[in-house]
Amino acid sequence: MKIKNIFVGYIEIPLITPFKTALRTVSSVKDLIVKIEGENGETGFGEAPPTAVITGDTKESIEAAIRGYIAPAIRGMDLDDLDAVMAKIEKSIAKNTSAKAAVDIALYDLYARSKGIPLYRLLGDTAQDMVRTELETDITISVNPVQEMVKDSIRAKADGFHILKVKVGKGGDEDVERIRRIREAVGTDMVIRVDANQGWTREEAVRTITAMEDALLDIELVEQPVSCHDFKGLKYVTQNVKTPILADESVFSLEDAERIIEEKAADLINIKLMKTGGIYTAMKICDLARANGITCMAGCMLESKVSVSAAAHLMGARSCITMADLDGPSLCSTDPYTGGPVFEGAKILLPETPGIGITDMPVSFETVF
Ligand code: MG
Repeated sequence: MKIKNIFVGYIEIPLITPFKTALRTVSSVKDLIVKIEGENGETGFGEAPPTAVITGDTKESIEAAIRGYIAPAIRGMDLDDLDAVMAKIEKSIAKNTSAKAAVDIALYDLYARSKGIPLYRLLGDTAQDMVRTELETDITISVNPVQEMVKDSIRAKADGFHILKVKVGKGGDEDVERIRRIREAVGTDMVIRVDANQGWTREEAVRTITAMEDALLDIELVEQPVSCHDFKGLKYVTQNVKTPILADESVFSLEDAERIIEEKAADLINIKLMKTGGIYTAMKICDLARANGITCMAGCMLESKVSVSAAAHLMGARSCITMADLDGPSLCSTDPYTGGPVFEGAKILLPETPGIGITDMPVSFETVF
């Protein structure tokens, strides 16, 4: 089936509360949406958030990469030769992983819809993987004054979440105190994940994580303790604490994942479609992780339902992904989309409808070709 038309548009959804990490503060989701039409009249949707501080991709650069490089490279190509289409996208422009992801997701959605099957059926390695259509996500607790974080954690528990992903990374002792107060408030039956978003030095990371271990705060994992460029620092932390270390900003490509696994620089890998450039490379990382017995998390940036749903389908299809950090839609104040997975508190339910499942949205699209 040939790729006939590509369109781009934008969606803006206010957040329930501002999202704060060691890197940024954001009050609404403002994402680019891609719509791709096949010659059979079917359509597929993709999405990309401009997360400049992490991916380097801005609203302007995402649209320019799609219009100027990615779309022209795949115009008229046959989607049945998916490997060739994906290779073209990869070669059309360096980096720009968010723009590539938006197009990749729309193509997978279109492809699965053309076959009349839900996306997770298309992504599953049926010989070894068991499809899961009911997933559980954590919820992010933004980095704030301790009292506010405690309040947010108690509210999350009341809202039915069992797993907190707590953002820290603004100072070692203060971070231990944050987690201590949250653990005290939510009790021992909640899972607590800690995300430092590159906020610590390697020594500070080992000191802080060890202090959390000594205080028996029962932390499931610590995500990206040090700078994404500090590969040796990441390995140093992994080797000097008991708590499992999850690589996030340090792993974009398949090559990054290979290096982390080969050198045992982290215990776990956070797969985000906006880092990998979409589902195609994410599946290669899953294959690699499974072959090496590495467990993964499916994560997202601050994204709305199109791309987060694509990540949920991937998780449903791939058993190496055991943890979901797919709370983007839960952080949005409204759901402007028709169809797709149901995000209900901590639960994500994948639909039986074809593709990602989203059929409509209030976006005015402009033609790329
Ligand atoms: Mg992270």
